[in-house]
Amino acid sequence: MPVSVAALKERAPGEGRVALVPEVVTKLVSDGYSVMIESGAGETAFFPDSAYKKAGAKVVSLAEALKATIVLAVNRPPATTLSKIGKGQVLIGQLDSLADAKELEAAAKKGVSILSLDRLPRQVSRAQSMDVLSSQASIAGYRAVIVAAEAYSRYFPMMMTAAGTARPAKVLVLGAGVAGLQAIGTAKRLGAQVSGYDVRPAAREEVSSMGAQFLTTSVESAVGEGGYARALTKEETATQQKELATQIAKFDIVITTAKVPGKKAPVLVQKETVAAMGPGSVLVDLAASAGGGNVVGSAPGKRVVTKGGVTIIGGDMLASEMANAASFGFAKNLSTVVESIVKEGEIVLDPEDEVTTALLIGAAAKGAKK
Ligand code: NAD
Repeated sequence: MPVSVAALKERAPGEGRVALVPEVVTKLVSDGYSVMIESGAGETAFFPDSAYKKAGAKVVSLAEALKATIVLAVNRPPATTLSKIGKGQVLIGQLDSLADAKELEAAAKKGVSILSLDRLPRQVSRAQSMDVLSSQASIAGYRAVIVAAEAYSRYFPMMMTAAGTARPAKVLVLGAGVAGLQAIGTAKRLGAQVSGYDVRPAAREEVSSMGAQFLTTSVESAVGEGGYARALTKEETATQQKELATQIAKFDIVITTAKVPGKKAPVLVQKETVAAMGPGSVLVDLAASAGGGNVVGSAPGKRVVTKGGVTIIGGDMLASEMANAASFGFAKNLSTVVESIVKEGEIVLDPEDEVTTALLIGAAAKGAKK
């Protein structure tokens, strides 16, 4: 019997992505899997049911999809759906397990093998093709520049016309990780004058190698575990906010991408800093969340214009806004995980495999050797 794999329709508000795309279905079918897709799952990403059928998938109901041996999802399925996945089945997705794993642990106790991609050991080279954080951050970084350019009422490049010369836009990218570097590259390609900033010293060379200026503050190095940034101390935060404030007013566009794994995103742009920016300036906050992001005044999914004429865009769903490309990357990442845990038609969660054990949640993970 071939191993069955099914992708569920996403139900989170504003979510446009889907965990499988037709091209990946074709590959899985040719590798011997039986593939199912919940009806309508790909619609918001412009993949109609007919495209999945053509690729070799069976289009099924939610109830049918939940019977698959391996269930794929972009986000954690709602509790009612999760409760229908049972012993011996596998659930794979970006399941937000670092913030709150209780529900997932309860399912794991029941015998569901749950692999959450937010736990991926990204430094392991074999894990890079499974890295949804990178594939989605890269799309979000690109999209941030596109939405900023759309909201900005002047040119990005220098424009010489018979009516005069327009100066290029000045763009600052705060946080130069995967999303930030993609934003820097995209803004450069649009012809803007670009600067980047980060607290990881390694980012300095990466920003410069892309032809952007590196902005400095006296908080020169804040590296934590696994090469990520660490949370700054109170004093460092105050220094950083103060020194950035004097710089930010000189820019037309500011894109913020700063995050610290497992912690609240740092506040980089305060209310007074926003007020000091010129009318027509644009801020895009990729860290926007209900609990606050990098910019005071940003709200998830919202676009607000301040009294001073500064547009603040909450960019938490930017990858989903490019649902077709984002789903393609997501599905490729997920299928690599699937292929890594199926050996000769059987699910094998190898306790010696550092990637599998890192992804697994709950009892199964505890029993596994690191
Ligand atoms: P992230 O989304 O956690 O954070 C985004 C950026 O914000 C990071 O560059 C971080 O340094 C920066 N940041 C955090 N706090 C800040 C502050 N107070 N001020 C300014 N900047 C701040 O990070 P990410 O983009 O997922 O990746 C970051 C790191 O992980 C990089 O070193 C990247 O090269 C590395 N990485 C490695 C692999 C791999 O080894 N395969 C894969 C992906 C990422």
